[in-house]
Amino acid sequence: MRAGQQSKYRWMGISLGLSIVLLVLKFTAYFLTYSTAILSDAVESIVNVIASGFAFYSIYLAGQPRDHNHPYGHGKIEFLSSGFEGAMILSAGLVIIWQAILSFFDPKPLSNLDWGLCWLA
Ligand SMILES: [Zn+2]
Repeated sequence: MRAGQQSKYRWMGISLGLSIVLLVLKFTAYFLTYSTAILSDAVESIVNVIASGFAFYSIYLAGQPRDHNHPYGHGKIEFLSSGFEGAMILSAGLVIIWQAILSFFDPKPLSNLDWGLCWLA
């Protein structure tokens, strides 16, 4: 494995790890506060985790040498990965819009704002 490739993997791993940590923090903040704004942020974090995971895998695949089935190599997977990430962001957007509509018509009082904000700060 080339050195450049290896540090790519390391950064992807760090990116994936950080997005999982953020995801957990944001969902905890949401369950403390029931704030829709925080929930949108948390949903967006799920997208980041899945997209990072997929990007990780596609970078791995793109680094594979050409083979019988793929005589031009595996670089094209990166386009697929970008398309996938776009689709994920779009669906997160729809979930967030849906949540916003729900809580507009059925607002829940915000709770534990002090704790929730501490958590995010
Ligand atoms: Zn192949």
